[in-house]
Amino acid sequence: MITRSVASVDSLTWQEQLAGSIRDPKELLHLLELDSFKAGTFESGALLKESLLDQALAANQDFPLRVPMAYLQRIKKGDINDPLLLQILPLKEELSGAPGYTADPLSEQTANPIPGLIHKYHGRVLLIVSPNCAINCRYCFRRHFPYQDNKPGRNEWLQALDYIAGDDSITEVIYSGGDPLAASDKQLLWLTEEIVQIKHVKRLRVHTRLPIVIPDRITDHCLHWLTSTDLLTSLVIHSNHPNELDSHVGSALKKLANAGVTLLNQTVLLSGINDSVETLQALSEKLFQMGVLPYYIHQLDKVKGAAHFEVTDQRAKQLITKLTAQLPGYLVPKLVREMPDHPNKVPLL
Ligand SMILES: *Cc1c(COP(=O)(O)O)cnc(C)c1O
Ligand code: SF4
Repeated sequence: MITRSVASVDSLTWQEQLAGSIRDPKELLHLLELDSFKAGTFESGALLKESLLDQALAANQDFPLRVPMAYLQRIKKGDINDPLLLQILPLKEELSGAPGYTADPLSEQTANPIPGLIHKYHGRVLLIVSPNCAINCRYCFRRHFPYQDNKPGRNEWLQALDYIAGDDSITEVIYSGGDPLAASDKQLLWLTEEIVQIKHVKRLRVHTRLPIVIPDRITDHCLHWLTSTDLLTSLVIHSNHPNELDSHVGSALKKLANAGVTLLNQTVLLSGINDSVETLQALSEKLFQMGVLPYYIHQLDKVKGAAHFEVTDQRAKQLITKLTAQLPGYLVPKLVREMPDHPNKVPLL
């Protein structure tokens, strides 16, 4: 039974918005007025062999649809090519295998000495603070990650903290996931207070898409644990398209900036979504207006089910070269690829 309307998130808490995410492909297509894309209709000059609904239901089995209403509100109704829609809609392309695309493209399942902790790069450890995300991005390199084995309880956290305390080369802790801000502020406060006691850790970084997806996630409690310690804090958001950056996102980012948090953005280069100079330029400019500097633009990780999002390295380099000719240097993100067994993300230019 469909009872919700796209305009109904005002006055809900972030937890209610998270719990109320759309998970039913049928409801998604209905809310976005895409029910009419049936088998046999023409779309962008091509014949749809299977209805959008049949495709979404099939690909949903592999990696479930999940999208909060606050994100859905930014998707244009009736537009099958909307750049935000394409990031969340399960499609049949995900089900056809492609050479070189695997379940664990970064071999993270082997750089995982303690559940919930990944230590691949010098000086930095990544903690999988929450296995959950607020949104399921179809291109996500973690779509096959065994999160259930990386769902630390307090015992595992104590092990992870011991590991960090025992290695004084570690100067930065990165909260990651899933999405670390899917955890409660109470948990995050506890963890941060433990980390601040480890003297060699100087910096705390949070990698999160939640301020984009549910901007109401940036609460006063959140600002409290993020800024109440001596740790230098940065927050790396993940935005792929300027349409994601509406005024609600702008207000959330302003709160973070005013509280002294350094704001950076990472983007994934995605075919048909943001692979144009105009889009990338607009993204950088809008980010800067909102107090955020572009950090990385990632070449897609070769995860099974995401091959249709690939932009070739040659084209990626051309795009960034053209972007460099358009923008001040500080608005051009670094084009990188993550490679297994490399001690850092590898620059392509
Ligand atoms: C990306 C990443 C980091 C952070 O790398 P930076 O270049 O410092 O942004 C740390 N650990 C892992 C496992 C990563 O994938
Ligand atoms: S980890 Fe990031 S890219 Fe992957 S589904 Fe979660 S929010 Fe999306």
